[in-house]
Amino acid sequence: MAAISLTGLTKVYPGDVTALDALDLEIRDGEFFALLGPSGCGKTTLLRTIAGLESATGGTVAIGEREVTALPPGRRDVAMVFQDYALFPHMTVRDNIGYPLKIRKTPAARRSAKAAEVAAELGLADYLARRPGQLSGGQQQRVALARAMACHPSVFLFDEPLSNLDARLRLEARTFLKRLQRELGVTTVFVTHDQAEALALADRIAVLEAGRIRQLGTPTEIYRRPANTFVASFIGSTPMNLLPGTVRGAWIRVGDALLPGPIGTDAAAALPDGAEVVYGIRPEYLRYTAQHAADVPGALPGRVTVIENLGSTQLLTLDPVAGGPPLQVTVPEDLPVTVGEPGYALPRPERVLIYRDG
Ligand code: ADP
Ligand code: MG
Repeated sequence: MAAISLTGLTKVYPGDVTALDALDLEIRDGEFFALLGPSGCGKTTLLRTIAGLESATGGTVAIGEREVTALPPGRRDVAMVFQDYALFPHMTVRDNIGYPLKIRKTPAARRSAKAAEVAAELGLADYLARRPGQLSGGQQQRVALARAMACHPSVFLFDEPLSNLDARLRLEARTFLKRLQRELGVTTVFVTHDQAEALALADRIAVLEAGRIRQLGTPTEIYRRPANTFVASFIGSTPMNLLPGTVRGAWIRVGDALLPGPIGTDAAAALPDGAEVVYGIRPEYLRYTAQHAADVPGALPGRVTVIENLGSTQLLTLDPVAGGPPLQVTVPEDLPVTVGEPGYALPRPERVLIYRDG
């Protein structure tokens, strides 16, 4: 087990593509760490640079006490699981799992025994003689995991290992992976573009955009207090509502409505009257009501234009009467509501976020 320390890590590909932009990051020993960001933000490059499969243009990588920036992959004591698993199709499961041990010149009998032991831990004992093509996607994914575990690395590097599984299997594999990581306690860097996966799995998350970290924190911190509109719009099963507004004392004017400003935060005190801001509120922190007194502030009037049934909840799209972007409101599954009806969205003040970067 080992911590990972990145300082000023930079990767510029030929053609002047800056994939990593002077990135500083400390990943703790034993931590389950997620790198989250949209496609092309540099997640795979970062993982491959830690593994030694890409050389850094600048900066350093340390694993544990050792600086490994110039070391080849085989001497970094890391194991990587790739998005497509990268199993050898002509080899049996036993030989696939034992392959890293073969590279390390472990005798065949030890290799075979170790492969069988790890396979048993991952529920693959019955498949040792099969080839990858004879396995389901979920089983192939476990073989890739078993291969990573076989030589007891200090660090696991996972590049979207669940993305090729169908939705149901993906959830199962996610829980399995989290339990396994807890049991093994191996420092794990998990790359994903799926915010739900990152929130569910990680001890801490770094949200990346264009080769830079936009926010670093626990899942709760990142969900509750996204640091900027980029993170705010990226995290959450339905995106946060981000509405242009203007500060009016303790209120924020959005369209014709006065909505509650943030309470109990430093941000509230620092907002000068008249400042142009972005008003952030998640759909689940808006209350919907069909009736509201016209002279009472705190509610945004609109018209329901779409109702989506999400099972345990409904997601309403509300077009504001005064114009501006439509907003989304989560309501209970049994709330009677019809398309076209007028209604009001009421923010929960303690969940309001105000941004000035939008
Ligand atoms: P992610 O995994 O987050 O989707 P990548 O690390 O694959 O992002 O890519 C980051 C950026 O670097 C992208 O703009 C991508 O096009 C570019 N890139 C990745 N690999 C190469 C390469 N081998 N040569 C040139 N550009 C590359
Ligand atoms: Mg990638």
